[in-house]
Amino acid sequence: MPIRVYNTLTKRKEVFEPFDRDLVRMYTCGPTVYNHFHIGNARAFVVFDMVRRYLRYRGYRVRYVQNFTDVDDKLIRRAAEEKTTVLALANRYIEAYFEDADALGIERADVHPRVTEHIPAILEMIGTLIKKGYAYTVGSDVYFDTSTDPAYGKLSGQDLDALVAGARVEVDERKRHPLDFALWKGAKEGEIAWDSPWGKGRPGWHIECSAMSRVYLGDTIDIHAGGQDLIFPHHENEIAQSECATGRPFVRYWLHNGYIQLDDVKMSKSLGNIVTVRELRNRFRPRAIRLYLLSAHYRNPLNFSVEQLEQAERGLERIEACLRDLDDFLGAAGAPRSGVPEEGGKSAVEAAGGAGAWEGPGEVVAVHDKWVTAMDDDFNTADALGALFEGVRLANQAVRERDPLLAAAWRDWIGHHAQWMGLVADRAEGEMTDPEIEELIARRAAARRQKDWETADRIRAQLLEMGIIVEDTPHGVRWRRKGAQR
Ligand SMILES: [Zn+2]
Repeated sequence: MPIRVYNTLTKRKEVFEPFDRDLVRMYTCGPTVYNHFHIGNARAFVVFDMVRRYLRYRGYRVRYVQNFTDVDDKLIRRAAEEKTTVLALANRYIEAYFEDADALGIERADVHPRVTEHIPAILEMIGTLIKKGYAYTVGSDVYFDTSTDPAYGKLSGQDLDALVAGARVEVDERKRHPLDFALWKGAKEGEIAWDSPWGKGRPGWHIECSAMSRVYLGDTIDIHAGGQDLIFPHHENEIAQSECATGRPFVRYWLHNGYIQLDDVKMSKSLGNIVTVRELRNRFRPRAIRLYLLSAHYRNPLNFSVEQLEQAERGLERIEACLRDLDDFLGAAGAPRSGVPEEGGKSAVEAAGGAGAWEGPGEVVAVHDKWVTAMDDDFNTADALGALFEGVRLANQAVRERDPLLAAAWRDWIGHHAQWMGLVADRAEGEMTDPEIEELIARRAAARRQKDWETADRIRAQLLEMGIIVEDTPHGVRWRRKGAQR
């Protein structure tokens, strides 16, 4: 069965086929780092993390890019209020983003490009648009001329008059047309600014994503994702910029997640009813927040309520209790424990070439097929979670009925799939992360340089106790986890 995705561009479900057979180029619009991110932003980051994980599960390589908007009006205003610099403010909230995102099980992107580090690529794209006649300058500002792009409006699917009426665009005398948007904004006195052929200034919001996705993913990318609120104008404008600059299609599949509603009203910063993930983490475990965010199909609205989060917390406890009971039973039954794969190990599905098949007893395979069918159908995590909990119920039954073979098969399936959905940590509790290991190895090397053999040997023993094997080779120090190939 192929994966089918709903494409906002064509407004229908399509069979997913990346441009390159096994490589998916994927870009998700990242946060503007002037604050902690709220649960509405978190939904986009979690559901598209899940999409990325599932594509990998099905055997694709995924090159995943998610940007940081680290300069804009909000950052400039906030930095001025706090009497700090835009850069310092951005650094603080980028660090905070990673803390919250890591806790939610959102894997880091292959690249997290920052706008302030990609000014040359942005200037180049703006220059091309001016040269080709798609953009015009007014003083130190540069605007995209929407009247030059006959395809403008194709993503949001509205005619331009309706867009003008609906967009409530500010009347700006300097623009030729109401929908024209800034590619470059001339700097006001005292603002952070870069030199450009049009004067000192900074990039507009939309051009950032066009330029940075091109740097890392090329002219045409497979999946561009973000919240529904980004369809217009942000993504519409990205298409206009990229396709006019390169002359090539920009994105093959546009994926947009639905809103989170608080009392059935869209949550947005302007409404002031925001709940940040940082705040929620004081009350709920992050993996429960993740489970809540995956509990509805990503395109549907998701209601926000304490009851829903408490329900997710109980759901997570059920999964964890089930895995514990399976381990206890299997330990007592003397059966081999076939748990989650070792880090760097391959799942059975990966080993099978990503075809989505699973081998095992009939009732496990039946649940697995439901899970895969749900995920293949436009990443329906709601139904996939339904299958996971059906597995939990059947696994509990296998324990009650003292069936070690069936219990072992469930341990394997639930362990893998809860992990694939990011609901249990990717490493066992207490296991060291790579950076922690690297740090200890660096300390051992320092001790050896100082001929402090006692310390060096103690660190080596400490690592061995954690299952890390250190080898001194002619090419330097190598390490691997016990039982893992490296
Ligand atoms: Zn974007």
